[in-house]
Amino acid sequence: MDGMEGARPDKEVPVGSERDCAMAKALSVIGDTWTFLVVREAFFAARRFGDFQERLGISRTTLSATLDKLVEAGVFAARDLEPGSRWKAYSLTPKGIDLFPVFLSLLAFGDRWLQKGVPPLALFHLDCRSWFAPRTLWAETGQPVRAAGIRFRIAAGYWRPAEPATRSRRPWRDGQVVGRRPCSVERTLSIVGDRWSFLILREMFHGNTRFDEIHRNLGIATNILSDRLKTLAAGGLIEGGGRGAYALTSEGEELFGPLALMKAWADRWLIPERKQNLSFEDARTGQPLTPQVVCSCCGRPVSARRVRYVTGYSLEGASDKPA
Ligand SMILES: [Zn+2]
Repeated sequence: MDGMEGARPDKEVPVGSERDCAMAKALSVIGDTWTFLVVREAFFAARRFGDFQERLGISRTTLSATLDKLVEAGVFAARDLEPGSRWKAYSLTPKGIDLFPVFLSLLAFGDRWLQKGVPPLALFHLDCRSWFAPRTLWAETGQPVRAAGIRFRIAAGYWRPAEPATRSRRPWRDGQVVGRRPCSVERTLSIVGDRWSFLILREMFHGNTRFDEIHRNLGIATNILSDRLKTLAAGGLIEGGGRGAYALTSEGEELFGPLALMKAWADRWLIPERKQNLSFEDARTGQPLTPQVVCSCCGRPVSARRVRYVTGYSLEGASDKPA
């Protein structure tokens, strides 16, 4: 692939531009660890403020801000818990429910790479009445979603003028966020659970593997970049570095699945008129490719309403009510 670098129009960000990237749009909605975990709890039927707080051990201030953000983004809907009550009940909107494949994909990644022994959460597919594992596959070919062997096709308007760096509105990392579930999603997020880490991986999927390339393409501060690369390397997602290039490990390559699913979600919900400016196609055949999550037993796409959970653990000091 290295010999083809010149043939990759998606690789290098032109000076003064940035990617108008659906995945980055998705990350601006869900790209911090607490937000992921709050949405995850909604999939576990958390509805009230107290449910989220109890299950996540999250501070009231952070939870309140996160819930407001998710309502504003149209991922959650809020209604009065009772008429006239100052408490709200939160529920996932169709836009929120459509994030389910992203969560399943992160879960499958964590189960496969970060979990020793039996996965802590068992999934049951109502369609085929079977226990199953989520598989992230290209809908058109049934092959696992990987960056290798595909081409990134960019449309006019993919590069847009870079905006001045106003991204520091949040702390870079939310500390070592640990909810109360020994959950594979959480393990995955402990390595990649911030927006920068995802964007660094994205640059690597676009063929940018050297420190200076990633630095230039993201406009990220060098100390933050160093820190994130160290975390990604310690987590086994990338290797190499020093003066040379970094490389994705096979583990890191597999994270392309969740990222591609986030992009597909953003294409559906955050892009006006669903106008994709980046699409995936098979490098050999030119066939367009769409990521989806299917059941390992019946091979059908998995929707949130057709899955039941059994947890192999109990939450400390909390009552668990699976959906
Ligand atoms: Zn099934």
